[in-house]
Amino acid sequence: DITRIANMIRTQDIMRRHDFNFKKKFGQNFLTDHNILSKITATATLTKEVNVIEIGPGIGSLTQYLLEEAAEVMAFEIDKTLIPILEETLAAYDNFQLVLADVLKVDLNSYIRRFKNPNLPIKVVANLPYYITTPILMHLIESKIPFTEFIVMMQKEVADRIAAQPKTKAYGSLSIAVQYYMEAQVAFTVPRTVFIPAPNVDSAILKMTRRSSPLVDVKDEDWFFKIMHAGFVHRRKTLMNNMQAEFGKEAKPEIEKCLNEAGISPSIRAEALSIADFAKLADAVFPLKK
Ligand code: SAM
Repeated sequence: DITRIANMIRTQDIMRRHDFNFKKKFGQNFLTDHNILSKITATATLTKEVNVIEIGPGIGSLTQYLLEEAAEVMAFEIDKTLIPILEETLAAYDNFQLVLADVLKVDLNSYIRRFKNPNLPIKVVANLPYYITTPILMHLIESKIPFTEFIVMMQKEVADRIAAQPKTKAYGSLSIAVQYYMEAQVAFTVPRTVFIPAPNVDSAILKMTRRSSPLVDVKDEDWFFKIMHAGFVHRRKTLMNNMQAEFGKEAKPEIEKCLNEAGISPSIRAEALSIADFAKLADAVFPLKK
């Protein structure tokens, strides 16, 4: 039978024995609830044929569940005072590798070669530090590592924004930046009470599955993202206003001509455009690229 790290009494005992204090600056909120951890692990559908990258193992609460079900777990942790704790709590597992590093500063490609079997599919499973959720997600996506899935906990509001559909308040550049590569779905929400310390926000598990190819074809990816961001700069203004802000007043006739040819109304707002619409828009205004 397994001694679980994740319960209130055991967590408090570990912290007391190691004289560990939570560090707010690292977004430390540790999970203490077996049901939530089982649900996260179930959502990740792990097998012994899957490698896992975890960001921020903390004292190993989630890590333990992942180690039980996955081939190997490689975890990136920024807080060096957690090292002796993890050495104790996860001592029984020989499929664990810990990297003491700021995940935003590591070249992930050089690390995944260190898996015993680097050819297995890799999933990212993590209870993310909330203060840098978006930078971490973008860092993972931009690494171009073919992660098959991300199953990550974050602030509920951010999860809703990522998974949002057009014509909703939550829809924006973050939805598109992620959905271009990944299919995103909120799996379930998590109450504040299952963490110590309890965070000030509600949380949700977001499941993102990599698409076999990006959702839309575009002439130039960087350009597509640039135009998409420009479209959302002033959320309440029309697309025409935002394009003029980007290209200058004098470009108005040319922008109008491009929008016309693409069949996009200049008076529409960015939040009404689907990702396919943005692809059309970016390609249409491509002649304006200097
Ligand atoms: N996985 C544990 C759990 O669920 O109980 C801890 C989750 S806690 C929300 C976030 C963890 O990420 C902390 O252990 C924190 O030290 C770590 N962390 C914060 N910033 C980090 C960074 N830039 N790189 C790697 N780990 C980081």
